[in-house]
Amino acid sequence: MSSKKKKVSQQTYKRRRITALVIMIVLVAMIVALAISSCSKKENDNPKGKTNPSNSDVITTDNNDNPDITINTTNPPVTSAPTVSTDFSATNPDGSDKVQSIELTFYSCELEMGETTMPYVTMLPDTADLTEKWESSDESIATVDWLGNITAVKAGVCYITVTSVDNPMVYAEIKVSVKDENGMIPSSQTSEPATSAQNQENLNQTSTTTITPVNNNDGLTYVQGILIANKTYGLPEDYDPGLDSETETQFNVLAQAAANEGLDIWLASGYRSYDTQNRIYNNYVDSYGQASADTFSARAGHSEHQTGLAIDVNSIDDSFAGTPEAVWLENHAHEYGFIIRYPKGKESITGYKYEPWHIRYLGVDKATEVYNSGLTLEEFLGIDSVYQD
Ligand SMILES: [Zn+2]
Repeated sequence: MSSKKKKVSQQTYKRRRITALVIMIVLVAMIVALAISSCSKKENDNPKGKTNPSNSDVITTDNNDNPDITINTTNPPVTSAPTVSTDFSATNPDGSDKVQSIELTFYSCELEMGETTMPYVTMLPDTADLTEKWESSDESIATVDWLGNITAVKAGVCYITVTSVDNPMVYAEIKVSVKDENGMIPSSQTSEPATSAQNQENLNQTSTTTITPVNNNDGLTYVQGILIANKTYGLPEDYDPGLDSETETQFNVLAQAAANEGLDIWLASGYRSYDTQNRIYNNYVDSYGQASADTFSARAGHSEHQTGLAIDVNSIDDSFAGTPEAVWLENHAHEYGFIIRYPKGKESITGYKYEPWHIRYLGVDKATEVYNSGLTLEEFLGIDSVYQD
């Protein structure tokens, strides 16, 4: 009896060991599977190149189209954190993912005639249909094939656009400058992107109202109660208000409203002092010459950021254009008191290229009026934006 009993307990023991082993193997497999799925999820949630708001104390970029560059900001992130997108409209009716952003390895280039280049494209999420559509605003200056090979034809400037076929709202632009025999780029012959054709038409309908700007004792220019800082009207060197508190508060409301739609809009650059702008501008002049620098960077005293009423959001470069955040901002910023200050196709009026990331606080009533007029602030107020020298 005792030996039989012992045999039985040994078998039971063996069975238990096997059962324990199986459970351990299953557990290990589950942990490995979990780890893999959370890794790949993280990659999707944090697309390459996107600035993480919580790490955005120092924003650097070498994009030479960037008007608002490298700035140390001490602004805390205005949205809670870079959040997992819960935007369910980011899918097609059949359940597949929609393209949400396009990033390129460069957004402007200079080519000699006959030269070819190709930017690398990152469309996200990579589970979407990643079919690209390439177009040139002027094929006599540069052509582009279906793969994105750009070939310079003759001297001039044009724009190459890559659009998501799956989600045409999302696109990116490359400014292509083709040099002539002397290495010069003809600046007067700029072909605007095809998408701004509508805006170009509006150029002809500029406001004819002329209002005399009022300079008060502090050397500040107010028109209809709006503080102006543009190429015509500057600010005194000692005007140093910091970021306006109402502007900041309203921006936080705007960011929260966007977050409620599953969008992530954060403050990338706010107030800039005269001295900071002076340093930025002079660096650009050293690198690109004054004529070029003036097209994308403000001279000290002429930056709207010195008013404390302007904010740059998210990635301060052309990759922001066409993102869901940019589209939302264009349609809703006025509801929170902001306007897109430098709209597309209005460069000759505002003095600056299209900046979908730069918003200016006017208060809800004024911003809504300007928005409904379809005019730039310059047109709305009947003022110009041109350096006097
Ligand atoms: Zn700006």
